[in-house]
Amino acid sequence: DPRLQGISDAIRVVPHFPKQGIMFNDITTLLLRPGVFKDAVDLFVERYRGMGIDAVAGIEARGFIFGPAIALAIGAKFIPLRKPRKLPGEVISEKYVLEYGTDCLQMHVGAIEPAERAIIVDDLVATGGTLCAAIRLLGTLLIY
Ligand code: 5GP
Repeated sequence: DPRLQGISDAIRVVPHFPKQGIMFNDITTLLLRPGVFKDAVDLFVERYRGMGIDAVAGIEARGFIFGPAIALAIGAKFIPLRKPRKLPGEVISEKYVLEYGTDCLQMHVGAIEPAERAIIVDDLVATGGTLCAAIRLLGTLLIY
């Protein structure tokens, strides 16, 4: 798809951020270009529209940038998967391992029903640890 190159070009790579040796992919430069931002959203909308997706679950924080736009366009609800102690209602939690230490994602109980189909949105997959935690949290089928 010719849009992929434009999306790739619009993401700034910042060496040694947030620490030495890390090549950080900064999507904020993509957000400054509305046409490319739209291309990134549209690719997912085209992939998932009409597939019976009930929910888009966005991972805090950058999944909150892309997820709601995709959810609205495909007619799905949006579920925020948040860092600990942000959600006011009853939550379920899933811990995951980071390079140093652990972190946790939380979701409101009742945000999704067992029969519903969800997609999970974030800006970037590195080790996949965050995404795996999100999959466990939803306990639902991942659709590629
Ligand atoms: P993983 O759990 O797959 O190792 O890391 C992915 C998570 O860390 C995602 O939530 C993503 O937002 C964040 N992350 C890791 N590396 C980068 C990066 O280079 N750029 C951005 N924007 N996010 C990153």
